[in-house]
Amino acid sequence: MLRHNLKIPHISTGDMLRAHIAAGDEIGEQSRGLLRSGKLVSDELVNELVRARISEPDCRSGIILDGYPRTVNQAGVLLDMMQQNGFRPAVIHLMVDYEKIVARLTGRRQCPVCGTLYSLTTHPPKVEGVCDLDGATLVPRDDDRESVIRERLDQYDMQTRPLLNYFRQAGVPVIKIDGAAASPENIMRHISDSLASLGLIDPSVYPREAPASEAGVTR
Ligand SMILES: [Zn+2]
Repeated sequence: MLRHNLKIPHISTGDMLRAHIAAGDEIGEQSRGLLRSGKLVSDELVNELVRARISEPDCRSGIILDGYPRTVNQAGVLLDMMQQNGFRPAVIHLMVDYEKIVARLTGRRQCPVCGTLYSLTTHPPKVEGVCDLDGATLVPRDDDRESVIRERLDQYDMQTRPLLNYFRQAGVPVIKIDGAAASPENIMRHISDSLASLGLIDPSVYPREAPASEAGVTR
């Protein structure tokens, strides 16, 4: 929804790594075992993936980074890259109770063809087990097993949570949002409004109302 409304690319390092794994290339081979066990891929590897991606032409008017940075090292490299590219960063801190995260992720299914994510509880496909867009059979993601999710949450506490202070001290605005209480549309509007009030996006370029038909949501 953010990508659609802000008209800038969504860059997910997890999706990039999964694409390398599917392609069976060298980066994929390095990443496969780590992702399966909930461990983080090396800083050098993801830093280089992001550096290459954000130098592409479609990133000139801005980017949404998802799943990156996850360590203080990555954050430092990212701030340097952003400065070189003339980007002004903001952090969106979505807060959700860990037990809710586990419940959501264990019910998550992904289309192996187009990558669309479904949730058995909050966003099921129209026909059980089948992608709405292309009819492919949905599969749980390898890294969505409960033990792997708990390991990822531990890694988050140790390696990623300290970034909140790191960014605050670096003068980067941190937008705190309750990620559990509101609907996706309201969360999206809250994020867009916060970015606009920081002067990071032009409020006239994003729609105030999400098109209701698009997500199949009625008000
Ligand atoms: Zn699909």
